[in-house]
Amino acid sequence: MAQVSEFDLIRDYFRWDQPPDSVRVGVGDDAAILRVPPGSELVVSVDTFNAGIHFPHETPPHAIGYKALAVNLSDLAAMGATPAWFTLAISLPQADAQWVAELARGMRELAQQHNIFLVGGDTTRGALSITVQVMGFVPCGAGLLRSHAQHGDLIAVSGTLGDAAAGLAVVQQRLQLPAAAADYCVQRLNYPTPRNALSHLLQQHAHACMDISDGLLADLGHILQASGVGARLDHELLPWSEALQAMPQAQRLGFALSGGDDYELLFTVPPDALAALIMAANAVGVRITVIGEVNKMQQGLLMNHRLSDGRRGYEHFSSE
Ligand code: ADP
Ligand code: MG
Repeated sequence: MAQVSEFDLIRDYFRWDQPPDSVRVGVGDDAAILRVPPGSELVVSVDTFNAGIHFPHETPPHAIGYKALAVNLSDLAAMGATPAWFTLAISLPQADAQWVAELARGMRELAQQHNIFLVGGDTTRGALSITVQVMGFVPCGAGLLRSHAQHGDLIAVSGTLGDAAAGLAVVQQRLQLPAAAADYCVQRLNYPTPRNALSHLLQQHAHACMDISDGLLADLGHILQASGVGARLDHELLPWSEALQAMPQAQRLGFALSGGDDYELLFTVPPDALAALIMAANAVGVRITVIGEVNKMQQGLLMNHRLSDGRRGYEHFSSE
């Protein structure tokens, strides 16, 4: 195992060339100096990943690097923000250069796709932990909040739900799937697609928005609570990948409703904005599906389900 110093690691893997103009001072000084575009507000978010808690110990370092940045990019997307910079605080049990090289490679691949630049960080010795802080910007006042859902809005999601939770069940050997479906779900767990391609569109059309990291029920609950509204959800409208479509309905619903790690966007739109939004989203290759509607007359979340006699009924969920 190649042991190297902290300074070598920073120099070799975290000091990237060709910084954008917005970075006046990046890695190498005591702090970064960054230029926020005039007329914009700074949007900041941070997430920590601890080995064995937020990712299984055996996760490949390339995936850890990718995902640590992806989930943070997803937070920027949920705010309607354009990614600009990030910092990286990394704690390593040993300075294994090959391992760090792979982590940096996964991170950099995604960073380049999204034009987000590494501007600083901290490198320490300790239990494996990775903290990424992202920064982006929105035009003044244009950030998308959880609290802006309105009566009559449709509730929609990007992509498909439940795949990553199924992937985690596969990794933890709680679930057996055909090989192709298992690979697909594990890939969705390790390499979520942050939906930044949608953020400008949502900035134009959506009222409330957040990303789904803890399962649809908990996260929709946050929007409802922040906005002081209720909602009706139709589980028969939920979008499924082929892998989950092939599962018994109760099982895939469990993954989508209370699994985690989807990193799809959950948002509300006024009905008259839907057609334009779906068309624009198609043009950037993202599927959007309406799954319910906001209703201020009712508290909490009602979800339809099929009664044993075949009729449809509604079940009440609290947002706790
Ligand atoms: P300080 O003592 O001022 O904290 P460090 O030795 O920790 O300085 O860091 C030196 C420079 O390297 C700083 O610009 C810091 O932002 C950067 N840096 C340290 N670790 C990382 C990392 N993991 N990723 C990116 N930049 C880093
Ligand atoms: Mg430091």
